[in-house]
Amino acid sequence: MKITKSEQEWKTQLSPEEYYVTREHGTEAPFSGKYYTNKKDGIYTCICCGLPLFESDTKFDSGTGWPSYFEAIEDSITEIKDMTHGMSRIEVRCSSCDAHLGHLFPDGPEPTNLRYCINSVSLNFKEKE
Ligand code: FE
Repeated sequence: MKITKSEQEWKTQLSPEEYYVTREHGTEAPFSGKYYTNKKDGIYTCICCGLPLFESDTKFDSGTGWPSYFEAIEDSITEIKDMTHGMSRIEVRCSSCDAHLGHLFPDGPEPTNLRYCINSVSLNFKEKE
């Protein structure tokens, strides 16, 4: 289901940093995010709309300073070609609300060889009971 809200509605719901990253395609400082070192079992959801995005067992330590996953939950992610900042990258967004999450790189570990490099502030974490 697609979720559409006005800029004002997102501003009211989100913190300034969450708004900057998810709605204005910002990037949090590396090693600053609250989930970079999180190793608990659970599910990472979209901070904007709550859609489940990543399972904790696909998270790995990339050394980059951002939470990294080798796989996303099926149909949760939209991939968009991003040519900004003089680079050719794949931007990843929440498929439900279009929140900017981070980027996808082809240098991850087995079994997918993918690396979803995600801003902590784009995510919420629900620990497994
Ligand atoms: Fe979302």
